[in-house]
Amino acid sequence: MVGGVWGAAVDLLLGGGCAGCGVPGVTLCDGCRGLLSRMAPFRAWPDPPPHGLAPPTAAAPYGDQIRQLVIAHKENARYPLARPLGAALATAVRAALGEYRGVWLVPVPSAPATVRQRGHDPLRRISRAAARALRAHGIDARIAPALRLVRRPDDQAGLSAERRTANLAGAFGLRSRWAEPLTDQPIIVVDDVITTGSTLAEACRALESRGIPVLGCAVVAATVRRLPSGS
Ligand SMILES: [Zn+2]
Repeated sequence: MVGGVWGAAVDLLLGGGCAGCGVPGVTLCDGCRGLLSRMAPFRAWPDPPPHGLAPPTAAAPYGDQIRQLVIAHKENARYPLARPLGAALATAVRAALGEYRGVWLVPVPSAPATVRQRGHDPLRRISRAAARALRAHGIDARIAPALRLVRRPDDQAGLSAERRTANLAGAFGLRSRWAEPLTDQPIIVVDDVITTGSTLAEACRALESRGIPVLGCAVVAATVRRLPSGS
């Protein structure tokens, strides 16, 4: 709780500045807002793709400004960023949906301790904003917090893609009351960022192992694997 509130208080005291680039006087400058509103969603398969990952669509590459915006919202509780980040996620969801006019958005679950520590659930907040943006486009979008953590995995930082997959195996479970409602509309699993795809793949597995098909995954941003120079 303290982290999020404190972050917001520091922003107030120091005046914050654009969360994307630091220009003073605004939460989000026109340039960074423009970056978020000119999204060209793309297929964001990690290399190698983890087993069981439904086709992932990203709104943007995880560049410097997008990273700053995601972190400012997640770690520093700059809640107004949920709306533009949610709108970006909505463009990825629309691309993933194709012709469908309805969708369940299933966020990957956060550890309750992490949510308490941050003082908010950033992905849930972005997902709600995305659902509102989708409904404004005539798509019947609803949030299904259908997954929960059944086992706390170790910290993923620094693990190889293979180790991440092993670390997450069986970590997510379906809340039983969602098994029935989820059958009436296509399902898109959502997260803020895709890196190795192991988290999203585990979320897909938790749903599909209960007979619930996943149409695709959608994220705000995808880390783009850079080939070493000269190769
Ligand atoms: Zn900016």
